[in-house]
Amino acid sequence: MALPIVPNGSSELTEPALEPISASTTSQEKVPRRPIRPHILNRFPPTSKGPWSDVPDAKWNDWRWQQRERITNLAGMEKVLNVTQDERDAYTKSHEMFHVGITPYYANLMDREDPDCPIRLQSVPKGGELNILKTDLEDPLAEERDMPVPGITHRYPDRVLFYTTHNCPVYCRHCTRKRKVSDPTTAAAKDQLEQSLEYIAAHPEVRDIVISGGDPLTLSDDRLDYILGRLRAIPHVEIFRLGTRNLVTLPQRVTDDFAYMVSHHHPVFVNTHFNHPKECTAEAYEACRKLADAGCVIGNQMVLLKGVNDDPKLVKDLNHKLLLMRVRPYYIYQCDLSQGISHFRTPIATGLDIIEKLRGWTSGLAVPHYVCDAPGGGGKIPLSPNYVVSHDGKELVLRNYAGKTFKYYEP
Ligand SMILES: *Cc1c(COP(=O)(O)O)cnc(C)c1O
Ligand code: SF4
Repeated sequence: MALPIVPNGSSELTEPALEPISASTTSQEKVPRRPIRPHILNRFPPTSKGPWSDVPDAKWNDWRWQQRERITNLAGMEKVLNVTQDERDAYTKSHEMFHVGITPYYANLMDREDPDCPIRLQSVPKGGELNILKTDLEDPLAEERDMPVPGITHRYPDRVLFYTTHNCPVYCRHCTRKRKVSDPTTAAAKDQLEQSLEYIAAHPEVRDIVISGGDPLTLSDDRLDYILGRLRAIPHVEIFRLGTRNLVTLPQRVTDDFAYMVSHHHPVFVNTHFNHPKECTAEAYEACRKLADAGCVIGNQMVLLKGVNDDPKLVKDLNHKLLLMRVRPYYIYQCDLSQGISHFRTPIATGLDIIEKLRGWTSGLAVPHYVCDAPGGGGKIPLSPNYVVSHDGKELVLRNYAGKTFKYYEP
């Protein structure tokens, strides 16, 4: 295969003209399909249509249909689940504060009978949600305090959180932005976008834009193309990260057209949020494949949740599956102090134990950073098992992953 030749020391610094994002190229040409071995694909089972078995594939695979047909109430939940009394009560008392939204696709990953199903715990309200502790906080990460303009949180020296929409295909019961997400009245208005762009343009230290929400993939391709294009036009902006859970909850959203659009704005990183190996389906695989083939670098931000993924073996399995999908485990978040999620919280020791059982025992690529996003706006603080046994003058005693000790001498 011939590779394109880039002339050495070319004085040609002008940008090459981008191909227009036009419907005239076929999907196949837009994102060439790289072959994947069947023994790898076989580990990612396709999702059944469950109670939607009458729905034709064309509809089922259409993200707009999935979005429209979301489960938003008790009757919808009863279609896929044997709803328990606890879930019924929790729904009745909580849904006005934090909506229910579950795509048919994600709903079919839930176990009809088992109320402790890890997918169900993440998407169906439980009694624990009504339990607000004194230590719970409405804005646990003080994102509002560090907001120079309404659509931006600027906390770290060189990067900002940039809010787009407040909608998501599935409303995760453990969401840290519950106070805003699912509330359409707080969605980013047009003048808010302009203010955010102005802020970034006026701050040359900002080189990394974390595009968040809600879920930015709730926006149309055209809208995202417009926002990315406007951001790309700011010379000091280097990288974008799209923070999205669509790969997990609505993988059909990642169409060839979407991947093609994104590929015009590189370097684009995609940070997603897989929490359980059951979420690693054929559909999710396909979404990740399209983005990776289109040149995106994908990372995963898992939230450590009691009863969902507080188990080292399970996290290892998840991380291995993620690597097969070309998704690099990036963070494990300690569950924060948002209101009504205390039933999900684990002790710090649980997270440290998970890291300790990964580090050294499996590829370093499968070992993410375990962080606690400090309440009150302290930012992400890494938590790590201690491998330094003693440090006496210049002599260090270090412990390896298998528990053997070794001496190291400092200069
Ligand atoms: C998480 C976060 C970032 C990105 O942090 P990284 O450690 O670079 O991934 C940026 N800004 C805010 C406010 C954040 O919460
Ligand atoms: S996708 Fe993210 S922002 Fe949306 S509900 Fe889930 S955790 Fe919250």
